[in-house]
Amino acid sequence: MQQHTDQYIGGAWRPALTAETLTVLNPATEQALALVPAGGAADVDAAVGAARAAARAWGATTREQRLEPLTRLRDGLAAAQREIAETVVAELGCPIGFATAVQAGLPLTVTDSYLDILAGYAFEERTGNSTVYAEPVGVVAAITPWNYPLHQIVAKVVPALAAGCTVVLKPAEDTPLVARLFARIVHEAEFPAGVFNLVTGLGQVAGAALAGHPDVDLVSFTGSTAVGRGIAESAGRGIKRVTLELGGKSANVVLPGADLARAVNVNLGNVFANSGQTCSAWTRLLVHRDHYEEAVALAAEAAGKYVPGDPTAEGTRLGPVVSAGQRERVRGYITGALAAGARLVAGGPEAPEGLETGYYVRPTVLADVDPGMAVAREEIFGPVLSILGYRDEEHALEIANGTDYGLAGAVWAADRETAVAFARRMDTGQVDINGGRFNPLAPFGGYKGSGLGRELGRHGLEEFLQPKSLQF
Ligand code: NAD
Repeated sequence: MQQHTDQYIGGAWRPALTAETLTVLNPATEQALALVPAGGAADVDAAVGAARAAARAWGATTREQRLEPLTRLRDGLAAAQREIAETVVAELGCPIGFATAVQAGLPLTVTDSYLDILAGYAFEERTGNSTVYAEPVGVVAAITPWNYPLHQIVAKVVPALAAGCTVVLKPAEDTPLVARLFARIVHEAEFPAGVFNLVTGLGQVAGAALAGHPDVDLVSFTGSTAVGRGIAESAGRGIKRVTLELGGKSANVVLPGADLARAVNVNLGNVFANSGQTCSAWTRLLVHRDHYEEAVALAAEAAGKYVPGDPTAEGTRLGPVVSAGQRERVRGYITGALAAGARLVAGGPEAPEGLETGYYVRPTVLADVDPGMAVAREEIFGPVLSILGYRDEEHALEIANGTDYGLAGAVWAADRETAVAFARRMDTGQVDINGGRFNPLAPFGGYKGSGLGRELGRHGLEEFLQPKSLQF
């Protein structure tokens, strides 16, 4: 078992100032993988101090000066792809194929996109008798979850550094190892000391100390709505900028005339990827009543292709969920839905056969789900799809918009115009039309309870900039 006793602060690995530790578990074997420091207020204070000390000089660099270490960071991520994937397999339980393509590959794509955006961004513009400068916001607190642990780090840290901000990162307690690996790559990229800092620790301790720190200018948080609300309240008291990427309960709406088989098959891949632990997953499939049973039969057949198993084995499509607590939560939702009258089409609350060890959940499809049921309204964060029927387009829209969330979604129709017209009426930040692919340049973020602000692309960079106007 690895034993780490240091935090990355001020350009060096320094002994943690707290003796507490966190144990990192492998969700497939339930074995301890590593111990990392559970940082406290003193560690956070040292990290914020280092970030503050570095902020003015880093904020005054030219884009070319920032592009140099950012390019080396990009190259470091490219060189470490295998190690990143294996680390995420070990601490998250994500299958190696998905970990390689997405957990390791996506952060590299996003970093590449920011090299291009930074190279071309207009940090200065004229309007009337003013010159408007886009200046860095200052010291950024980045607080990230465990489900796409490196992607969520990169989606905050890389644009923040590109904007000229300095950063303190507090990664999720379940997945600190890939965060430490990222810190190593940042170190090797030779950024000035203090520009990037890492404090591992518990949310209520290190996370709360960081979010509430008076010397932080912006809090960028990804995680649950409950914690995000508290962070927004404390940021409000401190007049701090805040970006929140919270949960989702996204609807996949199949309109009459669409390719139903394709829509259902893509939906299952979407909702079972990463064991359903994707905030933007289409967890609600909405189908017209006339096609409902056909959709249920298609989903039942397709679900059979997702067999839970060892995430280190090539070809495994579904690993465990991240923790015992998460498994109990997901099973509780399945049991609750069945008690409330939902029909089990595939899966169920029991452990998958032959997988008594590891936090596995059966890939589950529920039919006859009513929009009022908890599984149709609340984020489950597990491999569970609910199929809901609708009468007509207005009814479909009412169901699609009928949750507190609004992060993502999909529409399938016989033609693009019909799908776009429907998508424009959905209260959500992203909609994939007839199987449109994920675009790392498109702004990602939520309407309603799904958050504030956007990540990725130009919009993601601009979260870390503030305008200053000079009049002539
Ligand atoms: P979480 O909110 O418990 O934790 C997220 C992060 O916040 C962790 O680093 C945690 O340590 C920290 N934290 C916890 N309590 C804190 C506090 N009081 N003050 C400051 N920091 C604190 O969420 P989670 O369980 O890690 O992640 C799952 C949730 O995140 C789901 O609801 C999911 O939808 C959401 N999520 C959203 C997005 C998105 O982009 N919108 C992406 C991934 C996950």
